[in-house]
Amino acid sequence: MNRTMNAVFSKLLQAQNILVCGHIMPDGDCVSSVVSLSMGLEKLGKKTTMAIDWKIPSIFSPFPRVERIIDYSRYSTQLENSDLLVIVDASSPDRIGRFERLLRYGMPSILIDHHATNTRFANLCWVEPSYSSTAQMIFDLLKLMEVSYDGDLALMNYLGIATDTGFFRYSNTNSTVFEAAAELVKLGADPCMVATAILETRRLEEFFLERDAIDNLRLLSNDRFAYSYLRVEDFERYSLGEDDFGGFVGDLRSIASVEVALFASESVGGEAHVSLRSKSYFDVSSVAVAFGGGGHPRAAGFTLKYDGDLEEALQEAVELISRRLESHSKDATL
Ligand code: AMP
Ligand code: MN
Ligand code: MN
Repeated sequence: MNRTMNAVFSKLLQAQNILVCGHIMPDGDCVSSVVSLSMGLEKLGKKTTMAIDWKIPSIFSPFPRVERIIDYSRYSTQLENSDLLVIVDASSPDRIGRFERLLRYGMPSILIDHHATNTRFANLCWVEPSYSSTAQMIFDLLKLMEVSYDGDLALMNYLGIATDTGFFRYSNTNSTVFEAAAELVKLGADPCMVATAILETRRLEEFFLERDAIDNLRLLSNDRFAYSYLRVEDFERYSLGEDDFGGFVGDLRSIASVEVALFASESVGGEAHVSLRSKSYFDVSSVAVAFGGGGHPRAAGFTLKYDGDLEEALQEAVELISRRLESHSKDATL
């Protein structure tokens, strides 16, 4: 039995009013972990508040309880009484947006996360990179706590396992992932509903934006490295935001010759989110960390701040990746 998971269990039992906080630019694992942990704790008689300091992407609107997640602007009145902050799926304190203040104010904190680059910034840290997703850690934790699942909880817990494994395709997909998913489906999660809500709700404008991103596509290092970017004005042309365009970096990686893919989305002038993916041997998390971000060996990201033009600002990362790719043989772990 995992000793840290047990310590998390007993700290949760002692608390009464728990603030469950996910990361900015929330993905499926983040939303899933926040909502399913909150639902599970409420079944044990705890009062919880769900917090993510970002606008929740509309693909998550069909899911139960998501509309109850609050951002920091709605914090003060509701949360004054919280006696414990539980942070999920966040690798560093800046990832929780303005809720980071609560750590500085000294609120007791627990961190539950699966990023290898985690900086362990809470009082009690349960960080386990061998897990596919934070949602799978929540599943093991709620089982340990003997929470009885209903269909909504099973669905919300399944969501993060499905999305963080790319719907059971990525290298983090192992037999424990299928076991957890199978149990959650037995408990009432509907895999088709999740796949349809996440994968089959694209807007036509996203395809137009994709055309622009393909126009900017460059291949380097014998076609092993693909990168592209979109500027603020590209998003504005179709009234889309960077949150509406998350899958493209995965499409770049899907090119047969490609090992590393980079995609940058400019959110405001002088600031872009950079997503990195690799296929089988290049550790993109080390590149992300070098630029102040984090992530996993096959999926990582960072925020780039710059004066001037995005394409120029990207060159430092682009050169670092192509240099590393070119100086190593294909079999070496980078
Ligand atoms: P994304 O490319 O945004 O889908 O993110 C891929 C992975 O990198 C996820 O595991 C994120 O948690 C992580 N990540 C993305 N952006 C950042 C960042 N600015 N700082 C730390 N980790 C990040
Ligand atoms: Mn996440
Ligand atoms: Mn995750």
